Amino acid sequence: MYENILIPTDGSDTANVAVDHAVDLAEKYGAKLHALYVVDIDAVNFGLGTEQVDRIKQGNFGEMTELEEKANEATGIVAAAAADHGIEVHEEVRVGAPHEVIAGYADAKDIDLVVMGSHGRSGVRRALLGSVTERVLRSTHVPVLVVDEHEEGAEA
Ligand code: ATP
Ligand code: MN
Repeated sequence: MYENILIPTDGSDTANVAVDHAVDLAEKYGAKLHALYVVDIDAVNFGLGTEQVDRIKQGNFGEMTELEEKANEATGIVAAAAADHGIEVHEEVRVGAPHEVIAGYADAKDIDLVVMGSHGRSGVRRALLGSVTERVLRSTHVPVLVVDEHEEGAEA
């Protein structure tokens, strides 16, 4: 049923709770994990020249090392959890609008299940779901498991 599981992560606590679910499912199904971090260029291009933006889109972060570090840290959390459980994992960093990249990746890589957080870094609870999750649900036919960060402590 599940051979390729995608975990889009922004490195937030909620995404990391989703990682636990993705790892558990990957282990049970013998699936491969795909950890995807999307550099939201609209959020970072303020003050950047078009040349710099183009370079970042090619994956060359130049002096923008903190962007690259944030990305690698987020996917690295998935890689470490997968390694602990002997699960095959692929780390991917892309640039663009997060929901478009996530939905496009799911199509292109034959993803059977997306596991993601209900909220992310901004974590504002005015909405039931964060905008990235809501847009992914609207943009893909692949099943999506949405994990709320508080479910682990549900008895509290
Ligand atoms: P908003 O961004 O709408 O203000 P939010 O940050 O609380 O709200 P989302 O951004 O929708 O909520 O995050 C929900 C989930 O989407 C995260 O837990 C993560 O799984 C995924 N996600 C969010 N941003 C990215 C990103 N840049 N790259 C990969 N996955 C992401
Ligand atoms: Mn967000």
